Amino acid sequence: LKNYVSGYVEESDMEIVTNDTVYLKLPQGYSNALLLKNLYLSCDPYMRNLMSKLDEPSYIDNFLPGSVIRGFGVSRVLDSGHSDFKAGDYVWGVTGWEEYTLITDTQSLFKIPIFTADIPLSYYTGLLGMPGFTAYVGFYEVCSPKKGEYVFISAASGAVGQLVGQFAKLMGCYVVGTAGSDEKVELLKTKFGFDDAFNYKKEKDLGVALKRCFPEGIDIYFENVGGAMLDAVLKNMRNNGRISVCGMISQYNLEKPEGIYNLMNLITKRIMMKGFVVMDYVHLYPKFLEMVIKYIKGGEITYLEDKAEGIENAPAALVGLFRGRNVGKQLVVVAHD
Ligand code: NDP
Repeated sequence: LKNYVSGYVEESDMEIVTNDTVYLKLPQGYSNALLLKNLYLSCDPYMRNLMSKLDEPSYIDNFLPGSVIRGFGVSRVLDSGHSDFKAGDYVWGVTGWEEYTLITDTQSLFKIPIFTADIPLSYYTGLLGMPGFTAYVGFYEVCSPKKGEYVFISAASGAVGQLVGQFAKLMGCYVVGTAGSDEKVELLKTKFGFDDAFNYKKEKDLGVALKRCFPEGIDIYFENVGGAMLDAVLKNMRNNGRISVCGMISQYNLEKPEGIYNLMNLITKRIMMKGFVVMDYVHLYPKFLEMVIKYIKGGEITYLEDKAEGIENAPAALVGLFRGRNVGKQLVVVAHD
């Protein structure tokens, strides 16, 4: 990261730096550390929030100008001084946006189990990693869904949304998604099996679009974007509805957040609105993995990735999230193995 970012993040806010010292073995004095070769890096919207200069501490440390960007990724262990890992293991979790990373704190790294060896490793940046687990936590744990309920998902074709929609369909819900292009809307209906979908950029009035799709109202809203969409949804919720506040990407690049005017609906309709941070639920990850692997092997869920090739294309890939350029889970291929 070159400097703290204000407003929309640009490629020029980041720079690629070449370091002459490359270790292929752990350097002396690094017991308990790991040396990783990074294979896939995950582009995630929360990373934009870590690029701002914060007035008060957040739930994770932000990035410091001049230092390497951190994010989720998939890596191969080249050398290990830690008894839980050995050279040759594949891991997913927090690594550096670089080709090789020295990890001194392994708390946010998870060994990739051998029983998923026939599933693409890159899925650990999405379906089997943090975004997939977010879909699971935000839908099942936060929304307590029931068969037949009306479910609405924003940023529905992305890393998290495409999976929430499929989980909801498997549960027997009526599912509508919104996305920012006709191509994405088509994917929602044909590839991911949503009952209906619309392009929010083409709607003059979001409230009218929601009324058209949900004449009887919405039971569950999986919130990924915030702003005007949230406001329109509040008016279209049913009594005792649930809103899982996963993210608010429309606000991340704004200096001042947009106002929300329809919060009174929370009271009059007895709506439960709950925010969550996925890594607080890490104890549920094995349960999630078991469920999702069964669905993958049974052909019941599908997953779409958008791969950028080469670490030099990582800044553009990250910036693209906030312009809606990604179609499916955005990741960067740093090395094939
Ligand atoms: P996506 O793969 O969905 O990529 C981001 C998408 O957001 C874009 O493709 C674009 O799609 C949409 N978007 C961008 N800007 C806007 C805007 N101004 N208004 C409306 N839509 C916009 O991202 P993820 O699936 O990885 O993340 C989805 C949400 O989940 C994010 O808000 C993220 O911060 C949150 N999240 C929260 C976690 C938690 O623990 N609470 C963990 C992980 C993610 P389109 O073309 O449809 O506009």
